[in-house]
Amino acid sequence: MAFQERLITARNPWLVRPLLNRGAIISGCMIHSTRSGTADGDDGPRTEGWWSNPLNIVQDTPPWGSYADVLIHEDGTRVICTDWDIEYATWTAGYGGAGTWAAGIYYIQIEIAQGTLLEPFTDAAIESLAEKVRALSIRYGFPIERISFLDQTGVPPRGICTHEGSANGVKTGKTDPGPMFPWERFLELARGEEAMPVEDGWAYFTDDANPQYDPLGDSVNGIRVTGGVYRREFEYWQRVLLGPQLDAIWARLTALEAVSNPT
Ligand SMILES: [Zn+2]
Repeated sequence: MAFQERLITARNPWLVRPLLNRGAIISGCMIHSTRSGTADGDDGPRTEGWWSNPLNIVQDTPPWGSYADVLIHEDGTRVICTDWDIEYATWTAGYGGAGTWAAGIYYIQIEIAQGTLLEPFTDAAIESLAEKVRALSIRYGFPIERISFLDQTGVPPRGICTHEGSANGVKTGKTDPGPMFPWERFLELARGEEAMPVEDGWAYFTDDANPQYDPLGDSVNGIRVTGGVYRREFEYWQRVLLGPQLDAIWARLTALEAVSNPT
């Protein structure tokens, strides 16, 4: 399902810094949870209220405060807080030890509302997160794979990391998103493994850059048809590139006999 996505209700300008080429260096997402300390009610609006509050300011030169790129409420509503292609939040996850880079620049910072460490995340929040991460992975070309630990040195690995599993999180004693985060469910949803069952014999598309997936040598309107189970690749083509050609391609696929899986 699609969740509501909107801009933050009030944006405090000191909570973002410009970085005009950020879109070109984004390497994935970092998952956080924001906890008020009570399990009742939705912590999303509480966090949004704090981020919008003029009191969320550390008087420094320049001033800063707590913020993130995206906030997801417990009801699944997504709140967009930065224009992450050209700016970043002043404080979600920063540096680790000496010689590290700031995680908040390379990874889109996503906060999920959770009341307490051991309160389960809502299904809506996880589904909404998966929907967003899936779109971001297509947009920025990172895999939907967990980075077990982000040491914040060298070339930023591409994928999905967490605050607790980062050099900054270790340094600052973070526990988010914590033990209740449903990794298996989240990855399954983000990869679309529920949305479209894979069966042997299903036909997929690929492009000239991947001729190894082209056992049939068949094509429709210049798009090759293949028997590989590369569903993510297929969905990328389907959503992003094929658009108006889909009807012709589906007609051609319907006419195909069962095709074999090259793997
Ligand atoms: Zn965090």
